Amino acid sequence: MKIEIKKVKKEIDPVGSKQPKSPKMGSNIRNAILIFLLIAGLYAVIAPQQKPVADVSISDLAKSISAGEVKSVEISGQDLAITLKDGKTEKAKKETEASLSETLMNYGVKPEMLAGTEISIKNESGFSYWMLAILPFALPIILIAFFIWMLTRQVKGAGMQAFTFGQSKARMTAPEDKTNRVTFKDVAGSKEAKEELKEIVEFLRNPKKFLDIGAQIPKGVLLTGAPGTGKTLLARAVAGEAGVPFFHLSGSEFVEMFVGVGASRVRDLFQTAKRSAPAIVFVDEIDAVGRIRGTGVGGGNDEREQTLNQILVEMDGFEPNEKVIVMAATNRSDVLDPALLRPGRFDRRVVLDLPDRSDREEILTIHARKKPLAEDVNLKIVAERTPGFSGADLYSLMNESAILAAREDRKKVAQFDLIRSIEKVMMGPERKSHLLTPHEKQITAYHEAGHALVASVLPHADPVHKISIVARGRAGGYTLKLPIEERKLQSKKEFLDDIAMSLGGYVAEEMIFGDITTGPSNDLQVATSLARAMVTRWGMSDAIGPIALESDGGRTMFGQGVNDREYSESVSAKIDSEVKRIMDEAFAKARTVLTDNRKVLDAISVRLIETETIEQEEYEKILVANGIMPKKKQEKAKLDIVA
Ligand code: ADP
Ligand code: MG
Ligand code: ZN
Repeated sequence: MKIEIKKVKKEIDPVGSKQPKSPKMGSNIRNAILIFLLIAGLYAVIAPQQKPVADVSISDLAKSISAGEVKSVEISGQDLAITLKDGKTEKAKKETEASLSETLMNYGVKPEMLAGTEISIKNESGFSYWMLAILPFALPIILIAFFIWMLTRQVKGAGMQAFTFGQSKARMTAPEDKTNRVTFKDVAGSKEAKEELKEIVEFLRNPKKFLDIGAQIPKGVLLTGAPGTGKTLLARAVAGEAGVPFFHLSGSEFVEMFVGVGASRVRDLFQTAKRSAPAIVFVDEIDAVGRIRGTGVGGGNDEREQTLNQILVEMDGFEPNEKVIVMAATNRSDVLDPALLRPGRFDRRVVLDLPDRSDREEILTIHARKKPLAEDVNLKIVAERTPGFSGADLYSLMNESAILAAREDRKKVAQFDLIRSIEKVMMGPERKSHLLTPHEKQITAYHEAGHALVASVLPHADPVHKISIVARGRAGGYTLKLPIEERKLQSKKEFLDDIAMSLGGYVAEEMIFGDITTGPSNDLQVATSLARAMVTRWGMSDAIGPIALESDGGRTMFGQGVNDREYSESVSAKIDSEVKRIMDEAFAKARTVLTDNRKVLDAISVRLIETETIEQEEYEKILVANGIMPKKKQEKAKLDIVA
């Protein structure tokens, strides 16, 4: 038996079980031995107890009967169990063919003597008889079956799932599952999205109403939006509202190292969903399988294409009354294969935007439900201070502040915790241990003051919200600016002033110290790529004109965006010179601002070195004291950081 285990184990090993020797193996052998002993014990119990009984010959039996000593004879097969009148028992064997009475008469027993003896025939059909007959054959079979069962269990335990490979790994949330149930109440804001999805909910609740009137309900709904805007949450909420099973799978889970698995998983997923219709199938991050086919980038992944094809086939195969709705989510709808988006497939698109101020307050309220808040907490102010935050950021903000409060052994989350957490969520934790030498501190202070001042003086740059020289995340210091409006479009003038502001730190360092540190390297990168995008993508350069030379970069290779260059070397040279011109002009502009306002620059830096952080109010006081009008503050905006 042991040889058998080893052999099978060897066969499965190379396929990919990560642990060459499973810790469960030892206990399995122990179990097997235990079971074996048990069966052996059972056998011993069932087997007839062999009492020592005297063996007599047929002729002796005949003599005894003639002498009238025998009370009864019991025949079972060949065996004779003899009971004598004095209570003793004996046994004997008879010939197989002949009957006992015949044989005895042949031995000279008189018929009248025979009649005085009870002769009974026992049928050999007892339970133990059958067990004894079958067990020798059945035992090995039972044991082998047992081992195979053990091995399959073990194989599954090791995460191999050799026997369930093509099955989808979808997780199902049943409508009865109250703990994981999400409804529209748990999703703040996103009013248009919810409105759009209510129709789907309505259909899943009452499909007959729609089918009777001949209405075709969309088969697919594609949720798009920036990461953390609540796409996954909203999909769950639709299932929760409709009270239908929710099959949840991520796009990347279709694809494994074995070819054909993805397609078979898709088939399996849809089959399961159809069986429990009405249901929702949710493919999260669908861009993992749904990218434009046939680009050849990324090794021409055949497997991905097959998987995508299978999804398309399954969606086409739905009968109009199938009652399975496919939802998918992505933050890259621009890279999806057009075939996915044509009518009859994902023809409904729901776009989720970053939440605005009132939505942010609502989201914060939802996530504050289970956290005891101190009386001073004002979520409205927190919402005002967090433009550009996604739902996920706000969730994390709430959580961070609860952690802060708990770490300081307070029972309630205070406003102070919330405000502190905003910057932590944006840029990572403060690095108090990141100690600067006095000279470095001075450089950092002038650098940040340079950014801030350029922003405050140039008309199209955003107002400054906060300046700090406390290191956070990877930044040595930072300047927060808050745009006047929460805007979707940006103009050329704004970009030009933004570039000048990014260069403010560089210019200040050069002006004050006559030297440049590595500090502004990221500023330069940001400014340059902005200038480049203005020239090649947005037609904001007069020399090149209104032509898009580069797209938003739909494909990636080795983790980097690749752009097809569709212009000549001479245009390329022209682009470079235009980018350089924009940068030079921005540099000159920043330099003028800082030279003209040298006194203010000094004042801000001195204050920064003293306090390390200047909030908007104090900053504006310094400006006013030096004759600069601060820009008017507005609440709806997107926070921006310049490090
Ligand atoms: P996505 O799938 O778009 O990347 P998720 O749906 O996973 O984002 O959202 C992450 C988390 O952020 C959610 O679990 C939820 O806690 C929070 N969240 C996002 N948007 C909202 C919202 N509109 N209302 C409430 N919570 C939200
Ligand atoms: Mg998601
Ligand atoms: Zn900087």
